[in-house]
Amino acid sequence: MYDVIIIGGGPAGLTSAIYARRSGLKTLVLEATACGGQIIITPDIENYPAAMHISGLDFASRLESQANELGAEIKFEEATRIQDNGLEKIVYTDSGSYTGKAIIIATGTNPRKLGLDGEDTLVGHGISYCATCDGSFYRGRDVAVNGGGNTALDDALFLSNIAEKVYLIHRRDEFRGDAETVNKIKEKSNVELVLSSRVTKLNYDKKLDSIEVTDNNGITKTLPVAALFIAIGRVPATKAFAGLVKTSDDGYIDGEFCHTNIPGVFVAGDCRNKEVRQLVTAAADGAVAVHEVLKLLSKKV
Ligand code: NAP
Repeated sequence: MYDVIIIGGGPAGLTSAIYARRSGLKTLVLEATACGGQIIITPDIENYPAAMHISGLDFASRLESQANELGAEIKFEEATRIQDNGLEKIVYTDSGSYTGKAIIIATGTNPRKLGLDGEDTLVGHGISYCATCDGSFYRGRDVAVNGGGNTALDDALFLSNIAEKVYLIHRRDEFRGDAETVNKIKEKSNVELVLSSRVTKLNYDKKLDSIEVTDNNGITKTLPVAALFIAIGRVPATKAFAGLVKTSDDGYIDGEFCHTNIPGVFVAGDCRNKEVRQLVTAAADGAVAVHEVLKLLSKKV
């Protein structure tokens, strides 16, 4: 039996693993895809103390090595359910099950989808949720970005240096993101703002050919773009645990001091119901969650 099973190999999960191993806990990390989480799409980290100008990919790889070196076991399996048997918890995955005395849920968030026909099948063929990862595939082409927050604004600015033309589509007539970035975008001659409008249809055969955009007066126009970068926020990756732990209406797990409502089940990082979601607060949650796990185990062992 593991002392602690950590679900999610992003900064919160791997920091938990580092702290758990340094406290001598038998530690398993379950990661569904690749370690690093959302940070791997960040080209340059500028706001993590003392880690100046490191790419998200390098940061994630160093975190994974650190957890490995300290003796954390990392398995690439997707956790699908937690069964609470009191002092023992069973985590079921897509290929097995593991028993632990404590669980830390650190599953982060996923990009919010538009929910349009073809959106899932076109990923990699014209639909992307990461401009810095996929932007270069559309060099010299016309592309669109959907969203009005800082991610969409940064994406539009980034793509304006790669693409021939960028349509920035937002459902309101004012942006949620920083005014300074909006001003930079307005100076770009190849960015066209399409405001008070929503993307209503994707036209495609095997790849995206064009998108349909409908404004608040119901008028629809077709934009011939090779790619649509969707940047309309993120949603917590907590569906698998929603029946067990208490969440907010939008699915973030409630967890003051990283405790969920279930004794022995903790939560850390961006999937926790909190105000500030940054790399540094994800890492901090990892340390706090393990501190709480140690308190729990010392009571029992
Ligand atoms: P966000 O700030 O939540 O913005 C999401 C945008 O998508 C909003 O403009 C929203 O419109 C729109 N939206 C939401 N659901 C939609 C739907 N179904 N259809 C169409 N549009 C929809 O998300 P984010 O841009 O990913 O940023 C997340 C956090 O990270 C923010 O705190 C942001 O400031 C921060 N961030 C900072 C930087 C930076 O400092 N450079 C860069 C990236 C992100 P409404 O405005 O109408 O609600």
